[in-house]
Amino acid sequence: MHHTCDPALRSFVDVAPDSPFPIQNLPFGIFRPADGGDARVGTAIGDKVLDLGALEEEGFFQGPHLRGRKVFRRDALNELMALGRPAWVEARERISELLRSDHAELRDNVPLRGRVLLHHKDVRMQLPARIGDYTDFYSSREHATNVGIMFRGKENALMPNWLHLPVAYHGRASSVVVSGTPLHRPCGQTLPAEADAPVYGPSRLVDIELEMGFLVGGPATELGQRVPVEKAEQHIFGMVLVNDWSARDIQKWEYQPLGPFLAKNFGTSISPWVITLEALEPFRCEGPAQDEVQPLPYLRSSGARTWDIELEVGLKAARMAEYHTICRSNFRHLYWNVSQQLAHHTVTGCNIHPGDMMASGTISGPEKSSYGSLLELTWRGSEPIALPDGQERKFLQDGDSIVIQGFCRKGDHRIGFGEVEGTILPAI
Ligand code: CA
Repeated sequence: MHHTCDPALRSFVDVAPDSPFPIQNLPFGIFRPADGGDARVGTAIGDKVLDLGALEEEGFFQGPHLRGRKVFRRDALNELMALGRPAWVEARERISELLRSDHAELRDNVPLRGRVLLHHKDVRMQLPARIGDYTDFYSSREHATNVGIMFRGKENALMPNWLHLPVAYHGRASSVVVSGTPLHRPCGQTLPAEADAPVYGPSRLVDIELEMGFLVGGPATELGQRVPVEKAEQHIFGMVLVNDWSARDIQKWEYQPLGPFLAKNFGTSISPWVITLEALEPFRCEGPAQDEVQPLPYLRSSGARTWDIELEVGLKAARMAEYHTICRSNFRHLYWNVSQQLAHHTVTGCNIHPGDMMASGTISGPEKSSYGSLLELTWRGSEPIALPDGQERKFLQDGDSIVIQGFCRKGDHRIGFGEVEGTILPAI
């Protein structure tokens, strides 16, 4: 285990036992002080945010990969991501050292601490990166099977290609938003049941998709260059939680033959803190066996290439005081891992850039309680969810909020992703 993940490490900053952000985590994000000032890179520690932009200006990053680089006084992580893994590790090790309870440099510099450690409530988080391209995979076998049964029947649930390749579509980067951004119910074209012509209006079947995404880092690849499975993690900066809001009625009418389009482009929400693969290292695990259908050689994956990340989805209607948990799942259920996804994405020679985002697809597990969309949880609306205040939900109503949380734990060692939250407002 890398020493920055050592469960024995402690920070001089107080960290509550259930905080997602102990010193072993050290995620990267972009914040702006609530009382004004430019955006810059920070890390979360307990309920504080450490201003890395200010520390960089004061000369605190003098290692070989970061010296003279201006990567933290930025409104996006792209410049840091472009430097590659040695620089990310150098930054992490230095930040870990500066926050450690047995390291005096920042601990004993009270005026500096006052300037660079801000309370979480005094900052506003922004999108962590300029997202160049966004691709959405479809890598949960359970999700693909459930949706296949509903749309095509049990016999043809999984399409013939599904076990041979990680299915995906190219999504829309312009409408990726940070947690807390409300979205309006989309309008579009749908074909009502038993109608013979489509109608235009607000979607009636707005849904969520519980997903995670990885952000590409490292130098951009050249057109024509492939990223093999074994090297894929070198190109992955870190991971975020993703809610891929989906309009099921628009989707049903438009999706053949080219796949989702407007059903998915009205908003995709992501969590603000990017959790690095270094922080995830202790939670590495193997994914499902792929022995039923042997993948082609360029997709073969061995060893522990995924992570044990517990995921929860909560729903809160406008009048409810608290979130009601509607789903508990785990990232490890995914059939295709991130390395296979990236290898497949680049097998044609498609180039990738720092800041590209690739989402996993809905992360459904084997049990009904682990299904990652309302479409599956309510089985297309036929089995509504009962909310604690007596209301029922098939799909989202105006004013409904959704929160997705993610965390890893192993004994006392726990790190979290924080959350991605969003509310559906009435159609414009
Ligand atoms: Ca999706």
